[in-house]
Amino acid sequence: MTEPASRPRLRLFVGADLGPDAAVLLPREQAHYLGAVMRAEPGEAVLLFNGRDGEWRAIIRAIAKNGATLVAETRTRPQAPEPDLWLLAAPIKRERIDLVAEKAAELGVSALWPVFTRRTAMSRVNTDRLAAHMVEAAEQCERLSVPVLREPMPLERALGDWDARRRLLFLDETGGGMPIAAALSALADEAQGSVPPLAVLVGPEGGFAPEEQRMLAALPFVRPVSMGPRILRAETAAIAALAVAQALLGDGRERPRGACAKE
Ligand code: SAH
Repeated sequence: MTEPASRPRLRLFVGADLGPDAAVLLPREQAHYLGAVMRAEPGEAVLLFNGRDGEWRAIIRAIAKNGATLVAETRTRPQAPEPDLWLLAAPIKRERIDLVAEKAAELGVSALWPVFTRRTAMSRVNTDRLAAHMVEAAEQCERLSVPVLREPMPLERALGDWDARRRLLFLDETGGGMPIAAALSALADEAQGSVPPLAVLVGPEGGFAPEEQRMLAALPFVRPVSMGPRILRAETAAIAALAVAQALLGDGRERPRGACAKE
Protein backbone atom coordinates (compact mmCIF):
# COMPACT_ATOMS: atom_id res chain seq x y z
CA MET A 1 0.00 0.00 0.00
CA THR A 2 1.50 3.36 -0.93
CA GLU A 3 2.22 5.49 2.12
CA PRO A 4 -0.18 8.48 2.26
CA ALA A 5 1.81 11.65 1.63
CA SER A 6 3.31 12.50 5.03
CA ARG A 7 1.47 15.32 6.79
CA PRO A 8 3.51 18.53 6.47
CA ARG A 9 5.06 19.72 9.72
CA LEU A 10 4.15 23.35 9.05
CA ARG A 11 0.69 24.95 8.92
CA LEU A 12 0.07 28.63 8.20
CA PHE A 13 -2.89 31.00 8.15
CA VAL A 14 -2.84 33.11 4.98
CA GLY A 15 -5.02 35.85 3.53
CA ALA A 16 -4.82 34.67 -0.08
CA ASP A 17 -7.54 32.68 -1.83
CA LEU A 18 -6.70 28.97 -1.98
CA GLY A 19 -7.43 26.73 -4.94
CA PRO A 20 -5.70 24.40 -7.43
CA ASP A 21 -2.37 25.96 -8.52
CA ALA A 22 -3.13 29.14 -6.59
CA ALA A 23 0.05 31.15 -6.03
CA VAL A 24 0.34 32.32 -2.44
CA LEU A 25 2.75 35.12 -1.58
CA LEU A 26 3.83 35.28 2.07
CA PRO A 27 4.90 38.60 3.60
CA ARG A 28 8.30 39.12 5.19
CA GLU A 29 7.37 37.94 8.70
CA GLN A 30 5.91 34.64 7.53
CA ALA A 31 8.83 34.12 5.09
CA HIS A 32 11.23 34.73 7.98
CA TYR A 33 9.36 32.21 10.13
CA LEU A 34 9.41 29.60 7.34
CA GLY A 35 12.99 30.06 6.23
CA ALA A 36 15.04 31.39 9.14
CA VAL A 37 13.11 29.93 12.08
CA MET A 38 11.77 26.66 10.71
CA ARG A 39 14.58 26.17 8.15
CA ALA A 40 12.03 25.22 5.48
CA GLU A 41 13.30 25.01 1.89
CA PRO A 42 11.83 25.16 -1.61
CA GLY A 43 10.11 21.88 -2.42
CA GLU A 44 8.82 21.35 1.13
CA ALA A 45 5.04 20.99 1.56
CA VAL A 46 3.16 23.33 3.94
CA LEU A 47 -0.51 23.27 4.96
CA LEU A 48 -2.33 26.56 4.35
CA PHE A 49 -5.77 27.75 5.48
CA ASN A 50 -7.55 31.09 5.15
CA GLY A 51 -10.87 30.63 6.96
CA ARG A 52 -12.79 30.38 3.68
CA ASP A 53 -11.44 27.68 1.33
CA GLY A 54 -10.58 24.83 3.68
CA GLU A 55 -7.03 23.57 4.20
CA TRP A 56 -4.65 23.07 1.27
CA ARG A 57 -1.31 21.33 0.81
CA ALA A 58 1.06 23.78 -0.86
CA ILE A 59 4.64 23.52 -2.05
CA ILE A 60 7.25 26.16 -1.31
CA ARG A 61 8.57 27.52 -4.60
CA ALA A 62 10.86 30.26 -3.28
CA ILE A 63 11.89 31.77 0.06
CA ALA A 64 13.71 35.06 0.42
CA LYS A 65 14.18 37.65 3.16
CA ASN A 66 11.35 39.81 1.89
CA GLY A 67 8.85 37.14 1.07
CA ALA A 68 8.07 33.59 -0.02
CA THR A 69 6.02 32.03 -2.80
CA LEU A 70 4.04 28.82 -2.48
CA VAL A 71 1.70 27.06 -4.88
CA ALA A 72 -1.41 25.31 -3.56
CA GLU A 73 -1.82 21.82 -4.95
CA THR A 74 -4.46 19.70 -3.20
CA ARG A 75 -7.20 20.41 -0.68
CA THR A 76 -6.64 18.33 2.44
CA ARG A 77 -9.81 19.43 4.32
CA PRO A 78 -13.00 21.19 3.19
CA GLN A 79 -14.08 24.34 5.02
CA ALA A 80 -16.42 23.12 7.78
CA PRO A 81 -19.10 24.83 9.90
CA GLU A 82 -17.82 26.02 13.27
CA PRO A 83 -19.73 27.03 16.39
CA ASP A 84 -20.75 30.67 16.65
CA LEU A 85 -19.46 31.41 20.13
CA TRP A 86 -18.16 34.84 21.17
CA LEU A 87 -16.10 35.66 24.23
CA LEU A 88 -16.55 39.16 25.68
CA ALA A 89 -13.70 39.73 28.11
CA ALA A 90 -12.70 42.71 30.21
CA PRO A 91 -8.99 43.34 29.49
CA ILE A 92 -6.84 41.98 32.30
CA LYS A 93 -3.07 41.98 32.85
CA ARG A 94 -0.98 41.37 29.70
CA GLU A 95 0.14 37.78 30.10
CA ARG A 96 -3.30 36.78 31.39
CA ILE A 97 -5.31 38.28 28.52
CA ASP A 98 -2.74 36.73 26.14
CA LEU A 99 -3.55 33.34 27.71
CA VAL A 100 -7.28 34.02 27.30
CA ALA A 101 -6.82 34.89 23.61
CA GLU A 102 -4.76 31.76 22.93
CA LYS A 103 -7.14 29.41 24.80
CA ALA A 104 -10.23 31.03 23.30
CA ALA A 105 -8.82 30.27 19.84
CA GLU A 106 -8.04 26.67 20.82
CA LEU A 107 -11.53 26.28 22.29
CA GLY A 108 -13.18 27.37 19.08
CA VAL A 109 -14.51 30.87 19.71
CA SER A 110 -15.60 32.70 16.57
CA ALA A 111 -14.83 36.13 18.05
CA LEU A 112 -12.97 37.68 20.97
CA TRP A 113 -14.39 41.06 22.03
CA PRO A 114 -12.42 43.07 24.63
CA VAL A 115 -14.99 45.12 26.61
CA PHE A 116 -14.20 47.81 29.18
CA THR A 117 -16.24 47.57 32.39
CA ARG A 118 -16.44 49.88 35.45
CA ARG A 119 -13.60 48.04 37.24
CA THR A 120 -11.40 47.23 34.25
CA ALA A 121 -7.88 48.25 35.30
CA MET A 122 -6.45 48.31 31.77
CA SER A 123 -7.15 51.48 29.82
CA ARG A 124 -6.19 49.96 26.48
CA VAL A 125 -5.56 46.57 24.89
CA ASN A 126 -2.92 45.62 22.29
CA THR A 127 -5.14 44.11 19.59
CA ASP A 128 -2.21 43.27 17.28
CA ARG A 129 -0.62 41.11 19.98
CA LEU A 130 -3.90 39.38 20.80
CA ALA A 131 -4.58 38.75 17.10
CA ALA A 132 -1.10 37.26 16.65
CA HIS A 133 -1.68 34.90 19.60
CA MET A 134 -4.98 33.76 18.08
CA VAL A 135 -3.44 33.13 14.64
CA GLU A 136 -0.65 31.07 16.17
CA ALA A 137 -3.12 29.07 18.28
CA ALA A 138 -5.37 28.46 15.25
CA GLU A 139 -2.40 27.21 13.21
CA GLN A 140 -1.31 24.90 16.04
CA CYS A 141 -4.73 23.47 16.98
CA GLU A 142 -5.61 22.80 13.33
CA ARG A 143 -8.71 25.00 13.21
CA LEU A 144 -9.90 26.10 9.79
CA SER A 145 -10.45 29.70 10.85
CA VAL A 146 -9.07 32.35 13.17
CA PRO A 147 -11.34 34.12 15.66
CA VAL A 148 -12.34 37.65 14.75
CA LEU A 149 -10.90 40.22 17.16
CA ARG A 150 -13.69 42.76 17.57
CA GLU A 151 -13.06 46.42 18.32
CA PRO A 152 -12.47 46.98 22.06
CA MET A 153 -15.19 49.21 23.52
CA PRO A 154 -17.17 49.90 26.71
CA LEU A 155 -19.48 47.00 27.67
CA GLU A 156 -22.60 49.17 27.47
CA ARG A 157 -21.77 50.08 23.87
CA ALA A 158 -21.17 46.44 22.93
CA LEU A 159 -24.57 45.54 24.38
CA GLY A 160 -26.23 48.57 22.80
CA ASP A 161 -27.01 47.07 19.41
CA TRP A 162 -26.90 43.41 20.46
CA ASP A 163 -28.68 40.81 18.31
CA ALA A 164 -31.04 39.32 20.90
CA ARG A 165 -30.95 35.90 19.18
CA ARG A 166 -27.44 35.58 20.58
CA ARG A 167 -27.78 34.59 24.23
CA LEU A 168 -25.14 36.04 26.53
CA LEU A 169 -23.89 33.88 29.41
CA PHE A 170 -22.87 36.43 32.04
CA LEU A 171 -20.26 34.84 34.35
CA ASP A 172 -21.56 36.22 37.63
CA GLU A 173 -19.08 35.70 40.46
CA THR A 174 -21.65 36.66 43.07
CA GLY A 175 -23.35 33.31 42.50
CA GLY A 176 -26.48 35.05 41.23
CA GLY A 177 -26.88 32.75 38.26
CA MET A 178 -27.75 29.12 37.65
CA PRO A 179 -24.96 26.57 37.15
CA ILE A 180 -23.55 27.02 33.65
CA ALA A 181 -24.32 23.44 32.58
CA ALA A 182 -28.00 23.93 33.40
CA ALA A 183 -28.06 27.25 31.55
CA LEU A 184 -26.48 25.68 28.45
CA SER A 185 -28.89 22.76 28.62
CA ALA A 186 -31.84 25.14 28.79
CA LEU A 187 -30.47 27.12 25.84
CA ALA A 188 -30.00 23.98 23.75
CA ASP A 189 -33.57 22.88 24.57
CA GLU A 190 -34.80 26.36 23.63
CA ALA A 191 -33.00 26.02 20.29
CA GLN A 192 -34.44 22.50 19.77
CA GLY A 193 -31.06 20.85 19.92
CA SER A 194 -29.33 23.05 17.38
CA VAL A 195 -26.39 25.10 18.58
CA PRO A 196 -27.67 28.67 19.14
CA PRO A 197 -25.33 31.62 18.61
CA LEU A 198 -23.84 32.23 22.05
CA ALA A 199 -21.58 34.63 23.91
CA VAL A 200 -19.77 34.40 27.23
CA LEU A 201 -18.96 37.53 29.26
CA VAL A 202 -16.18 37.52 31.85
CA GLY A 203 -15.30 40.44 34.10
CA PRO A 204 -11.98 41.98 35.16
CA GLU A 205 -9.89 41.17 38.23
CA GLY A 206 -12.13 43.47 40.25
CA GLY A 207 -15.36 41.81 39.17
CA PHE A 208 -18.52 43.58 37.98
CA ALA A 209 -19.86 46.68 39.71
CA PRO A 210 -23.33 46.37 41.29
CA GLU A 211 -24.89 48.66 38.71
CA GLU A 212 -23.42 46.48 35.95
CA GLN A 213 -24.85 43.36 37.58
CA ARG A 214 -28.28 45.00 37.64
CA MET A 215 -28.01 46.26 34.07
CA LEU A 216 -26.97 42.82 32.80
CA ALA A 217 -29.60 40.86 34.77
CA ALA A 218 -32.31 43.10 33.29
CA LEU A 219 -31.40 42.32 29.66
CA PRO A 220 -33.67 39.66 28.06
CA PHE A 221 -30.84 37.93 26.20
CA VAL A 222 -28.57 37.70 29.26
CA ARG A 223 -28.30 34.54 31.35
CA PRO A 224 -26.34 35.05 34.61
CA VAL A 225 -24.44 31.80 35.30
CA SER A 226 -22.33 30.44 38.11
CA MET A 227 -19.03 28.61 37.62
CA GLY A 228 -19.21 27.10 41.10
CA PRO A 229 -18.67 28.25 44.68
CA ARG A 230 -15.12 29.54 44.36
CA ILE A 231 -13.99 32.91 43.06
CA LEU A 232 -11.98 32.07 39.94
CA ARG A 233 -9.43 34.31 38.29
CA ALA A 234 -10.93 35.89 35.17
CA GLU A 235 -8.78 33.79 32.85
CA THR A 236 -9.76 30.61 34.70
CA ALA A 237 -13.45 31.46 34.50
CA ALA A 238 -13.24 32.31 30.80
CA ILE A 239 -11.34 29.16 29.81
CA ALA A 240 -13.49 26.89 31.98
CA ALA A 241 -16.73 28.39 30.60
CA LEU A 242 -15.60 27.93 27.00
CA ALA A 243 -14.56 24.34 27.71
CA VAL A 244 -17.96 23.55 29.26
CA ALA A 245 -19.79 25.20 26.35
CA GLN A 246 -17.84 23.16 23.82
CA ALA A 247 -18.23 19.94 25.78
CA LEU A 248 -22.00 20.33 26.17
CA LEU A 249 -22.91 21.96 22.86
CA GLY A 250 -20.50 20.10 20.62
CA ASP A 251 -17.97 21.78 18.42
CA GLY A 252 -20.38 22.66 15.64
CA ARG A 253 -20.04 19.38 13.78
CA GLU A 254 -21.68 16.70 15.87
CA ARG A 255 -25.21 16.75 17.31
CA PRO A 256 -25.31 18.24 20.84
CA ARG A 257 -24.80 15.45 23.34
CA GLY A 258 -24.63 14.98 27.09
CA ALA A 259 -26.69 17.17 29.37
CA CYS A 260 -28.04 19.19 26.50
CA ALA A 261 -29.46 16.61 24.18
CA LYS A 262 -32.36 14.36 25.03
CA GLU A 263 -31.04 10.87 24.25
N1 SAH B 1 -12.54 40.37 42.54
C1 SAH B 1 -13.86 39.75 42.46
C2 SAH B 1 -13.84 38.53 41.57
C3 SAH B 1 -13.54 38.79 40.14
S1 SAH B 1 -13.20 37.29 39.33
C4 SAH B 1 -14.28 39.29 43.84
O1 SAH B 1 -13.39 39.01 44.64
O2 SAH B 1 -15.48 39.14 44.00
C5 SAH B 1 -13.11 37.81 37.65
C6 SAH B 1 -14.31 37.38 36.81
O3 SAH B 1 -14.31 35.97 36.68
C7 SAH B 1 -15.66 37.71 37.37
O4 SAH B 1 -16.05 39.04 37.04
C8 SAH B 1 -16.55 36.69 36.71
O5 SAH B 1 -16.89 37.10 35.39
C9 SAH B 1 -15.66 35.48 36.65
N2 SAH B 1 -15.85 34.56 37.76
C10 SAH B 1 -14.99 34.27 38.76
N3 SAH B 1 -15.49 33.34 39.59
C11 SAH B 1 -16.73 33.01 39.11
C12 SAH B 1 -17.75 32.11 39.52
N4 SAH B 1 -17.60 31.31 40.59
N5 SAH B 1 -18.89 32.06 38.80
C13 SAH B 1 -19.06 32.85 37.70
N6 SAH B 1 -18.12 33.72 37.25
C14 SAH B 1 -16.97 33.80 37.95
